Amino acid sequence: MRARRERTGQLVQTQGQQRTLGEVTRNLNSWIEVDLGAAEGNVRALKGLLGGVELIAVVKANAYGAGAAVLAPALEAAGVERFAVVWPHEGYMLRQAGVTRPILVLGHAFAADATQAVRAGLTLTCHSRDLGEALSAAAGLAGVTAKVHVKVDTGLHRFGLEVDAAVELAEYLRGLPHVEVEGLTTHMANADEADDSFAETQHEVFRAAAARLPWIGYRHTANSATALRRGELHYSGVRVGLAIHGILPPNTPGPALRPMLAVRARVARVTDVAAGEGVSYGLTWRPERPSRVALIPVGYADGWRRNLGNAGEVLVRGVRCPMAGRVCMDQFLVDVTDVPGEVGEGEVATLLGSDEGEAITAGAVADWAGTIAWDVIASLQGRLPRLYHRGGAVEEITPPLW
Ligand SMILES: *Cc1c(COP(=O)(O)O)cnc(C)c1O
Repeated sequence: MRARRERTGQLVQTQGQQRTLGEVTRNLNSWIEVDLGAAEGNVRALKGLLGGVELIAVVKANAYGAGAAVLAPALEAAGVERFAVVWPHEGYMLRQAGVTRPILVLGHAFAADATQAVRAGLTLTCHSRDLGEALSAAAGLAGVTAKVHVKVDTGLHRFGLEVDAAVELAEYLRGLPHVEVEGLTTHMANADEADDSFAETQHEVFRAAAARLPWIGYRHTANSATALRRGELHYSGVRVGLAIHGILPPNTPGPALRPMLAVRARVARVTDVAAGEGVSYGLTWRPERPSRVALIPVGYADGWRRNLGNAGEVLVRGVRCPMAGRVCMDQFLVDVTDVPGEVGEGEVATLLGSDEGEAITAGAVADWAGTIAWDVIASLQGRLPRLYHRGGAVEEITPPLW
């Protein structure tokens, strides 16, 4: 039983003897499995590779769909030194979940957020004098020092300041009484492209800024792909999101990692479709042979993207079954004609993850959907319950099941 459950009031710990995934999901239509053992193994593998460089776990967007309130404390226990989110409120929610390590806010913050940010002990990326002054005032009242990082726009042209402006702001912030400029940062534009050489251009710009701000000790520039491809960009810490999930970015070699997420559902209905009949909205799937289709209770409202219709695959008994017709809001169909034996109601279908030696990776789903692996897992935000387990023994469930 964990203390943080009292704090959030949202998490359920299975009582007494631990139940297995099979027991907990016996009458669940669909769910996400979050393998905490895999997450911890991935942290160990990454830390082994990084030596003394800090592992900053990026748990923005509810930990890319894995659920930050449970995952982040588990990562902290596994040795993650620091966390990063994008919006201040995400950092506040991590504190609510019991995270005690430093939390870096990578994105924009309003000066009006300063008091709450100081109260939550967040490290903001400071982009303006206004924000710096508000932080200094709030920190002064609270009797603390507000740490900030300054971001240099080295070519991505998303967030941050050009070199001259970044240097000027950093020097100004340095003069404020209750602010400490702890970090200097940038973000790479082409980290996972086949040709990531633009990182060298960006590195030159970052180095120029860093040379003018030698008093800022903590520097960080790398996401997963950069961390794994370019050791020269490790600096003080690396901001790793995707790799903690056990997924390597495209064009990126890496250590043996284990996928952390699985998405599964139980077949809700199996029905025969005659040759030439149509299936799902628009009747876009019309088999040329008599077929059997299984209804999978997951839809685009669960993050299973609509453009997977007629493109994706699902595992049933370890057999790859093509998705048949359009994805609806809550359900879709798969062609189970070639699965040996009688597929019946209640049988488990694997949308993401492995089953009987076959696996569906986030990268494969991304290819079918015409997107990227980050998008596939970060889209898993909706109503699917998350079952946190180690080796199949369920430890926590959120939201609570009835
Ligand atoms: C999301 C994000 C990361 C993490 O990227 P991954 O590719 O998932 O490791 C790092 N830095 C910034 C600024 C980000 O927005």
